[in-house]
Amino acid sequence: ERKLIIAGNWKMNKTVAEAVDLVKGLKLELSGVKEVDLVVCPPFTALCEVSKLLLDSNIRLGAQNMNENPAGAYTGEIAAFMLKEFSVRYVILGHSERRTYFGETDEWVARKARAAHAAALKPIICVGETLEEREQGRTRAVLERQVRGSLAGLTRDQMLETIIAYEPVWAIGTGRNATPEQAQEAHAFIRSLLAGMYDETVARRVRIQYGGSVKPSNARDLMCLPDVDGALVGGASLEVRSFADIVKNSI
Ligand code: 13P
Repeated sequence: ERKLIIAGNWKMNKTVAEAVDLVKGLKLELSGVKEVDLVVCPPFTALCEVSKLLLDSNIRLGAQNMNENPAGAYTGEIAAFMLKEFSVRYVILGHSERRTYFGETDEWVARKARAAHAAALKPIICVGETLEEREQGRTRAVLERQVRGSLAGLTRDQMLETIIAYEPVWAIGTGRNATPEQAQEAHAFIRSLLAGMYDETVARRVRIQYGGSVKPSNARDLMCLPDVDGALVGGASLEVRSFADIVKNSI
């Protein structure tokens, strides 16, 4: 009942010309895919050109971050209305890199999430424990704090239009993905939190992506898990072949 959603987070990579090449290749490879929702999240500088290429495509556009204020004196920031201009549908919020390097807190992520919904953008809200937290047996406590904090103030209807990405920090960019058992356990736990915060229907409907060293060789085993509803792909989304193979191996 939950459709898989596979998104490429390009992070701080690709010139406009490289972004155009990548998207043209993805369109050729993935135009027939109807079973999975497909999203690419280029850097802001490539949104304009990529959005034109996606007009006649089954691939949707996402951004990697957004400021929570409507407009104004926020030097260097990008507001929701600027994303809407390029038909952006999704926005990644609270990625662990933004939490670690730019000081984003759960409370801040929640403000961004509410602003995204106010602009009818679907947030992809990232949570996940560090290796130290896992080794200390604190994974559930950390996930509970992040889920409750980062979703604070979202209405039930907004929650139904929100995507959660479980991205264990130790799996990001390391080549060491969570095992299917670890991923399923964390996803089921996050879903149980949603049942408590909202209700069983919300818990059953909200999609939870897995992120962290997803590649063609592990996509099938992760995407077939009962509580895993897609992937947020970093490194392997930067090449046509690997991203297309992740999608094809997930169907
Ligand atoms: P990698 O796929 O490169 O591990 O990155 C995952 C990620 O952070 C996606 O948001």
